[in-house]
Amino acid sequence: METNDSNLIPLCSGFKEKHNSICIFGTGDFGRSLGHKLLQNGFSVIFGSRNPHAAAMIPNGVEVLCHAEAAQKCSIIFLAIQRHHYDFLTEITDVLQGKILVDVSNNLKINQYPESNAEYLAGIVPGAIVVKAFNTVSAWALQSGTLDANRQVFVCSNDSKAKYAVMDIVRGIGLTPQDHGSLMASKEVENYPLQLFPMWRIPIYICGGLTVFVFLYCVLRSVVYPAINDKKDLSYYIVVSIPNMVFPIVSLILFALVYLPGVFAAVLQLYRGTKYRRFPNWLDQWMLCRKQLGLVALAYAFLHAIYTLIIPIRYSVRHRISSLTIAQIQTNQTKEFIHSSAWRSDLYLAFGILGFFFFVILGITSLPSVSNSVNWREFRFVQSKLGYLALVLCTAHALIFGWNRFLNFSHYRWYMPPPYTLSLVVPCVVLILKFILITPCLDKRITKIRQGWEKPSKAPKQTKYENSHITI
Ligand code: NAP
Repeated sequence: METNDSNLIPLCSGFKEKHNSICIFGTGDFGRSLGHKLLQNGFSVIFGSRNPHAAAMIPNGVEVLCHAEAAQKCSIIFLAIQRHHYDFLTEITDVLQGKILVDVSNNLKINQYPESNAEYLAGIVPGAIVVKAFNTVSAWALQSGTLDANRQVFVCSNDSKAKYAVMDIVRGIGLTPQDHGSLMASKEVENYPLQLFPMWRIPIYICGGLTVFVFLYCVLRSVVYPAINDKKDLSYYIVVSIPNMVFPIVSLILFALVYLPGVFAAVLQLYRGTKYRRFPNWLDQWMLCRKQLGLVALAYAFLHAIYTLIIPIRYSVRHRISSLTIAQIQTNQTKEFIHSSAWRSDLYLAFGILGFFFFVILGITSLPSVSNSVNWREFRFVQSKLGYLALVLCTAHALIFGWNRFLNFSHYRWYMPPPYTLSLVVPCVVLILKFILITPCLDKRITKIRQGWEKPSKAPKQTKYENSHITI
């Protein structure tokens, strides 16, 4: 794949002066929107249509001709037509000789055809130069001008000059061209608009699975157990109390899962004595979705914070507090102020607030607009150092909340430990492993390996850069 060498490309103003008109085949939604945008930006446009006289909603003064006539007048032709209608082009191949055909088409399914639409087009009009572009921009966004999330236009072609000419047009209408290399990449480009949150799938499945498991665990312990053992109806817990157990538990586990693959990768690199060998596929996939895992964890942390804020206004809580107060008045006894409890509760709250604060900072720096404005070292500092600090604080928050309850067997219901212990397993594993890895002897070795050092080995060498990972 070629790099985005947009600086080497001539300016679009040059294109506007040199070329009189841009031709668009098809007066449908996309053709009209693109035509409109081009006109707004000073380009001149000619439409090619099956029924030039019947074409509707075309801007005033714009020529609509039959395909052959329109093509003759322009060197760049946008095909705003579905792929299955391309056949008519074979009848005008002589007019299309040497012209740049821009394929904007999309499919209904990923990998719908064996070859990409652009490659198919190149096959049926061999004398033309095919460029794939604009398929990721919607007609609606072009027309309404709401292009913020759609600014990138992926462009690929086997002919660099043609590609740069189209990239000029992209820039000319205020969008950002991304050079995607040769036409071989067109299949990938055609699949982009059909993907549905590909990087979010694993985090959402993990989060969903954990949520269901922890929810059932808490219901069993906090609702079913008291109902059977003590004949107490605590079913109202399902609405607020149990979600407020599930959110922090799942959030902390997911947060730790963001850092666990980095730790595994470091252990693997230490064991192998090189960074130039592929990680197993599962670890690769896991590393790639760390940002999404972190953002889902942050969303759950937000829910926990909001649910916690409503505790004082809950009826059951107010009832319990007033009952305790009345009981003290009736027995004329005042509960003693326990300093250790005050310390514990303040520490628990302070760690929670600070952990959440650093977690939010991590979330903010993962936004593209923010991460683009910091350098690699600053980004790593926030994501790695502040990230671990946030994980330590959140783990301490959960540890102090539960304190030593896990040691007291009376808190085990049907042999099930208190729910907070569930949240501590993964974070503790991550923090212990990380603590071991930052001991000077191991840290020095990992740093050397990540700088390219390899353990001397008798086995045949793997290809360098087979898979060199940057781990946080
Ligand atoms: P559309 O509204 O259905 O328009 C397609 C146009 O193709 C018709 O208006 C017609 O124009 C022409 N056409 C229809 N049958 C034809 C035939 N048998 N032979 C020759 N021309 C024929 O579709 P669209 O939404 O504009 O999409 C056009 C292309 O842009 C598609 O490949 C689509 O995947 C791609 N695209 C669309 C969008 C979008 O948001 N709509 C976004 C990105 C890419 P005439 O009557 O003038 O001949």
